[in-house]
Amino acid sequence: MGIERVTADVYRIGMGYVSAYLIAQEAVTVIDTGLPKHREIILEAASKAGRKADEVKHILLTHHHADHTGSLAELLAATSAKAYIHPLDAPIVRGEKPAPGPNRDVLAGRVLGPLMARITPTLQPIEALEETNDGDEVPAAGGLKAIHTPGHTAGHLSFVWPQNGGVLFAGDAAGNVLSGPRPPVGALGGMFTEDVAAAKESFRRLAELEFEVACFGHGGPIKGKAHTAFRQKVEKLAK
Ligand SMILES: [Zn+2]
Ligand SMILES: [Zn+2]
Repeated sequence: MGIERVTADVYRIGMGYVSAYLIAQEAVTVIDTGLPKHREIILEAASKAGRKADEVKHILLTHHHADHTGSLAELLAATSAKAYIHPLDAPIVRGEKPAPGPNRDVLAGRVLGPLMARITPTLQPIEALEETNDGDEVPAAGGLKAIHTPGHTAGHLSFVWPQNGGVLFAGDAAGNVLSGPRPPVGALGGMFTEDVAAAKESFRRLAELEFEVACFGHGGPIKGKAHTAFRQKVEKLAK
């Protein structure tokens, strides 16, 4: 845990069960902001990469969940960064729409959901968000491609960075907590997934892409031949 270098320019910022990421290039790009009150470790990662807070120019959000947008307000306050999110998740981060609760179709969502919903922090609404759609090239780190991967949330985005061998930032469209990459469905992983069928389809879509390295919201990164691990999982799920 803590700060881990994944590739030459990509750093993983571990915050307990969830990770944020940072790409240190001419400017600094942060992918997800993790839990609330974790700005310091994000800025520490920037400093490890030899960068200052005012060099953080872009914040890419994979989805609205509070463990991925938790330190957004604090990070925006300390930097001149622009934040990017899909238009379907943006109204939740802006506070215009409540976050959907745990998925009642999933057993864990029924049992643990009310407790989880109670301990989920309420975040300060953020007005200043740039909206990003499927296929857009976000002007960060020389260009990151946004891929709409709905299911976990309606506006979930994954990002593919073509440098350093090709790096996928999967957010929660895939997790790597147990044995290899998997879609965010099933007993525990699916508790906050809004649409299970769409989440499985998005995982299949990710497996069709080319990327050597994969970074996840939950679980450690895969540092080589990551797309092969995704394809093997898709084949297994199809059986
Ligand atoms: Zn999530
Ligand atoms: Zn998550």
